Amino acid sequence: MSRTNRLYLFITSFTLAMAAAHLGAAESIEPSLDADERALVSWLESQEADMIALTERITNLNSGSLNGAGVDDVTAVFSAELASLGFRIEMLPGDLIEMPSCPGSEYNLDLTDHLLARRSGAGSRLLLMGHLDTVFPPQSPFQSFSRDGDTMFGPGVADMKGGLVVMLYALKALAASGDLESMSVSVLLNSDEEVGSLSSRKYLEEQARNHDFGLVYESSGNDTFTRTRKGLGQARFVVNGRASHAGGAHQEGRSAIKELAYKIVEIENMTDYESGVTVNVGIVSGGEARNTVAPCAEALIDLRFPEPRQGEDAAGRFQEIFAQVYSYPNDSGTITTDSWVNLHRPPKIPTADSDRLLEQARAIGRLLGQEIGVTDSGGGTDGSLTQAVGLPTLDSLGVAGSGAHSNREQARVSSLLERAQLSAVLLRRLSRQ
Ligand SMILES: [Zn+2]
Repeated sequence: MSRTNRLYLFITSFTLAMAAAHLGAAESIEPSLDADERALVSWLESQEADMIALTERITNLNSGSLNGAGVDDVTAVFSAELASLGFRIEMLPGDLIEMPSCPGSEYNLDLTDHLLARRSGAGSRLLLMGHLDTVFPPQSPFQSFSRDGDTMFGPGVADMKGGLVVMLYALKALAASGDLESMSVSVLLNSDEEVGSLSSRKYLEEQARNHDFGLVYESSGNDTFTRTRKGLGQARFVVNGRASHAGGAHQEGRSAIKELAYKIVEIENMTDYESGVTVNVGIVSGGEARNTVAPCAEALIDLRFPEPRQGEDAAGRFQEIFAQVYSYPNDSGTITTDSWVNLHRPPKIPTADSDRLLEQARAIGRLLGQEIGVTDSGGGTDGSLTQAVGLPTLDSLGVAGSGAHSNREQARVSSLLERAQLSAVLLRRLSRQ
């Protein structure tokens, strides 16, 4: 090393020391990576090819939420991996969620089991979460992994099979370094996030109450962490009318489609961009034949809301609309509506603790050369559930990616390694807090 370099190093360290002293509180400046952390980072570098291979393998296993056998196949991969890291494995029972439906279009959600893996130790109790399911059913044409340079494509590569690999390899790094031995870590992988965690919500909330930090491995989008999220609701309703010949006895019929049309207009009118509440009638179906007055019609609705009270209000308004008969005001007895309404995700409202967690993760990112921004989202995750019961939660620690829920879904290959490195350091530091 030349004299100039030595002098430069001296000045740099001196300046950094002065800066640290000036900032005072240890919290306000993230110390640089120590030797143990640098060892985690370089161990992970040696694992990059394996991370990509595992992402490919699990992306090629179809795990649409209603494909229980496929979800179980992905569960088996993680169950074996986590058991080999010393986790105790437990399967939490799934559920059959029954919905009202027109005859012949039954829409029940048969949700398979969830995986809970635990290691007890000292330090802060960390709850790592991810979902095993995707939105792509086995009959979807989008089924397999492909790669073009630094971009990988496939169902779930971003949402969130890539994230599951990030989580697993962060834990593997901590196991290889010996850190995991003394850490208190739980991993909860659910089977039903894409249909709103209708079965796993109770387990997520229960675990959230027994941990200190929540970490969800959903996609980090365009290299951003998500700070706030809207609340979500869903509703399904079925209008029952009376069938009749459209020519011979039109006046005896009570058209469920006509009534559904009125209700749809009322429901769509609930959208108010100013307050941030949006309602979307996403799917409608009904009727039996062109020349039959429709005896049954149904709709599936999506609701988004920034404040918890707005969600309650909207659910109340749905019930009013379902109860009222618009199309046959003088014969309302013949038309009935069966409904199912579920506010399945509360809004994610930041707290001082969750903001600190987010900034800590960003600071570690900077130490690793990863500049990660902050964004707000209209989409919900399981992190909204855990944060709402008081667990400070960061919910976008997975791969950078885009196009989720479409056949354009893709992720940046190099973000597998980057986010695993960030996570390994973050988990180690959090565990010591
Ligand atoms: Zn997801």
